Amino acid sequence: MPTCKECNDEVDALVTVKVDGKAKKLCEDCADRAREAAEIAEASESSRG
Ligand SMILES: [Zn+2]
Repeated sequence: MPTCKECNDEVDALVTVKVDGKAKKLCEDCADRAREAAEIAEASESSRG
């Protein structure tokens, strides 16, 4: 079973999510959170200026 590198839980399947231009393999829960965090970071970047 693969292990999520974020929460160290063993999961059925890992999801590949792009964070800071790097592909990360996370469980679905962590992938969702990482995606949200990335969107917030992008939004704050683009609203600057
Ligand atoms: Zn996880």
